[in-house]
Amino acid sequence: MCSIENCNLENFEDKDKCILHCEKDDWYKVQENGYKSWYGSEKKLKLFGERLEKNFLVFGIIKKMDILIMSI
Ligand SMILES: [Zn+2]
Repeated sequence: MCSIENCNLENFEDKDKCILHCEKDDWYKVQENGYKSWYGSEKKLKLFGERLEKNFLVFGIIKKMDILIMSI
């Protein structure tokens, strides 16, 4: 179960947190121009989006999503 307090989602793959809370450093590659390429992580992003839709009101992770969007 996710190690974040009050979150009871299952862990994502081998992480100790759920798909919403886990680090996403390995979901993208930083290109030479500084932009992040999310190529290859489409399935994860889709799952993340589905999870987010169901849970963001409950867990209040809108701020985290803002950070994710800004970092893309
Ligand atoms: Zn979680």
